[in-house]
Amino acid sequence: MNLGYARRFIVEAFRDGGIHNATGEADLILIRLLRVSRAFVMGHPEKILTGGERAYIDKAVARRLAGEPLQYILGEAHFWGISFEVGEGTLIPRPETEFLVEAALKRLPSDSPSFFLDWGTGSGCITIALLMERPLAKAIMAEKNPRSIYWAWRNLKRNGLHGRALLWHSREPDDIPVRNGSLDLAVSNPPYIPTKEIDGLMREVRCHEPHMALDGGEDGMDFYRKLFRGVPVMLKEGGALIMEMGGIAPGPDNGCAPGMALTEETADFSGNLRCMVWERRA
Ligand code: GLN
Repeated sequence: MNLGYARRFIVEAFRDGGIHNATGEADLILIRLLRVSRAFVMGHPEKILTGGERAYIDKAVARRLAGEPLQYILGEAHFWGISFEVGEGTLIPRPETEFLVEAALKRLPSDSPSFFLDWGTGSGCITIALLMERPLAKAIMAEKNPRSIYWAWRNLKRNGLHGRALLWHSREPDDIPVRNGSLDLAVSNPPYIPTKEIDGLMREVRCHEPHMALDGGEDGMDFYRKLFRGVPVMLKEGGALIMEMGGIAPGPDNGCAPGMALTEETADFSGNLRCMVWERRA
């Protein structure tokens, strides 16, 4: 089998399987398999594939047609221009989370040390983007899912950042081993989907991504309540809690702590509220 034939085979299988971006996904599989550029994949149809390469393609196609997200099959996702290792057990970083990174960077100095918490770090994408942009910053990454801790650690190591971050197995935002008033910043992209909406999610998400990273309880607000309860005391005065959300604002009814003032809100390109910045005033 040559590369041109393999490419047509994958594209057709994906089209028949109802995969929206069949050619793009086929090319990503071949790029990853052969470690070549897209230009090579398109320009060398005559290249003969080995038996091992054909077996990889068959397996990747079967997994994708069974609804597995492409990033898990490739073992890789991109966020903030950085490559992350991902697999079953951790949430795939989403582009909209870059709004949170932008808001956080406004609060982290580039010329002096700072210390921040990332509660529910998942793959580690937010912390790693921030540590790359702010070489003097240090972080504590908290995560309740042991399978995610594995991926976060791999991503820290592969980016050479394991000396600047502590990975902590946290069940609730109030079990973080830091002194009161010691954080410049806390960020979180918590699970925020109401439990009853999980069944209506895309198959890729519903059947493959960890529900622990998605399910925000009955009203989707469980983790905002926990963050408002546990985090403010850890912040310095003037420090901020920055949280991602899926369009609905957690407000006073969800336990917003006294002494915290809302200072910034960001909507995504569809106009949905994505990110809120709360500052500790006292
Ligand atoms: N912080 C991680 C991310 O943004 C994981 C978020 C989550 O598991 N809810 O991808």
